[in-house]
Amino acid sequence: MRIAIIGMGTAGVTVLKELSKSRRFQDMQIDAYDNPINMGQGVPFQNDSDQLLINLPAEQMSLNLDNKREFFDWCQAQSKFKFSNPEYLPRFVFGHYMKAFVDKINNANANVTLIKEEVAEVFIESNIGETDVLYHVCTSNDMEHCKTYDIVFLTVGTLSYHDPYQLKGKPGYIHTPYPTYHTLDNVKDTDNIAIIGTGLASLDVIRYVTEHHINLPITVASRKGELPSVRGEMPEITFQYLTPKKFNELKAENFGNVPLDDAMALFLKECAIYEIPVETLVHRKVGNPVEDLKYDLEHAEDLGKFQSILELIKENLNWIWNSFNRNDQKRFLEQYQPILKANSNPMPPRTAKLLIEHIENEQIRIYDGLENIEYNNHQFKLTYANHGDDYFDIVINATGSKTQLKDLDSDDQLVINLENRQVIQAHPLGGIQIVAETNQVISPRYGTLQNMFALGQLTNGINQSRNGVTMIVRQATGIIHRLLEN
Ligand SMILES: Cc1cc2nc3c(=O)[nH]c(=O)nc-3n(C[C@H](O)[C@H](O)[C@H](O)COP(=O)(O)OP(=O)(O)OC[C@H]3O[C@@H](n4cnc5c(N)ncnc54)[C@H](O)[C@@H]3O)c2cc1C
Repeated sequence: MRIAIIGMGTAGVTVLKELSKSRRFQDMQIDAYDNPINMGQGVPFQNDSDQLLINLPAEQMSLNLDNKREFFDWCQAQSKFKFSNPEYLPRFVFGHYMKAFVDKINNANANVTLIKEEVAEVFIESNIGETDVLYHVCTSNDMEHCKTYDIVFLTVGTLSYHDPYQLKGKPGYIHTPYPTYHTLDNVKDTDNIAIIGTGLASLDVIRYVTEHHINLPITVASRKGELPSVRGEMPEITFQYLTPKKFNELKAENFGNVPLDDAMALFLKECAIYEIPVETLVHRKVGNPVEDLKYDLEHAEDLGKFQSILELIKENLNWIWNSFNRNDQKRFLEQYQPILKANSNPMPPRTAKLLIEHIENEQIRIYDGLENIEYNNHQFKLTYANHGDDYFDIVINATGSKTQLKDLDSDDQLVINLENRQVIQAHPLGGIQIVAETNQVISPRYGTLQNMFALGQLTNGINQSRNGVTMIVRQATGIIHRLLEN
């Protein structure tokens, strides 16, 4: 059996790790593709500044669903990286933990080959009149560089970054904020810097730039100017009401779908068990970043319970989300997704305290109301809805990655080629069409591809908000178990 894994970050590494546990592993010829830098580490866990932290305690994140402490224990056992605060570890350490598995499996098994090149094309071989398919994976546009496979895993991670003000290519515009320790490579000490976007990527850039740039303050601007929430004390919880059983009952009464309002009523019942002041928490932001951060730090108990419920929803969002009809999915995205987003992937309290310090010491200024950016005479002009224009020498883009196929450009050439060759098709709510239960790709030309699986952010229309490590590991493990059973 010939297997290609395209992309060797969290998803690709988990696929390889799970395959290696099979009794039939030696019957498989596995080629794992990625560029030499990200091979085995992926993008979020690549080598970068040690100030970029994993957003949850190290003891709660691992590639092993049966042992949450596996990463923490690996970290304690090795001597290469030592940190004074092992609770929240730098992200790149997790990358080395993943890479250690890849190296171990690769060194011990002749049937695994790491191909340190990016894939340019994947096409399907199918004779006219027949339904059997084979997959070809190519590392260039030249068909000489193609290999044939029975099974393909498409684990390419996040799509490229948005360019909301069409600034790509302008001198002084840094389109991708990672690795953050290269953001200042071509920046002068005297340059005036703006970071656009106030999400998690923005926090990474703030941490690095405030530490290493001389001309402060840095301006951080976005439309809403809202920072992510702060991680509270998150208890372990299990759902009493939001269960597959309850959903199946509702589906039976509602033409095969769960009405969104019924699901919300169940959600509120879950919150009531923990006495969570939902309304207060949803409307807690006052628009002043310091006050908002302090509120979160001071309400760690209530907020933590709320975050635990939302995290558990995200972990189960495959069947929750796919139980809604299309109109309710759209309504969910409009009404509830912003609340879910604002309260999930919280920052560690340590980062929140640092941000408060930076704002109070005037090392950063956070502005909302950003409406437009224009480049003229070697300067970027930021226009706001609520105050005067601002001028900068450097703009660092931290606005997040694209989710829709229609927005892609040559930075995502493989995905564009896959769509053009009718291997994949866009999902109306983002990413590509897959079977929710199995992650099999649904091609517009060949139907469900039995042996092509897609995971991660590329499937965001189906796997809405399910992109954390644990959720990716769960998807990858499930796919391999089903595959090996068959
Ligand atoms: C900045 C950031 C921080 C995050 N922090 C956390 C966190 O602290 N905790 C958490 O649970 N989740 C975190 N996440 C979520 C994270 O995306 C997932 O947890 C997980 O790493 C995604 O895994 P993946 O395999 O889908 O993508 P990745 O890990 O990015 O792997 C995709 C790989 O595919 C490769 N690739 C892309 N195109 C090609 C091609 N054409 N050919 C070959 N290879 C290709 C890339 O080089 C990359 O190595 C973070 C995400 C980001 C963006």
